[in-house]
Amino acid sequence: MKQPIVGYHRDAENHWVAELACGHNQHVRHDPPFVSRPWVTTSEGRQSMRGHTLECVKCDRGCESDR
Ligand SMILES: [Zn+2]
Repeated sequence: MKQPIVGYHRDAENHWVAELACGHNQHVRHDPPFVSRPWVTTSEGRQSMRGHTLECVKCDRGCESDR
């Protein structure tokens, strides 16, 4: 299910985690060359992706809220 990004925080290992409108969290790593998300490394980039939708597999699986 597509869910918009409503916020961000860092996890214990300093990776960025997107907070989705559904209440689930999703890692948005920038880990080249495997995962390239240079936007997540800057505050401007993260702001620009606020409201962007990500596919939330936790919704599809009926997982409980992460927060
Ligand atoms: Zn979800």
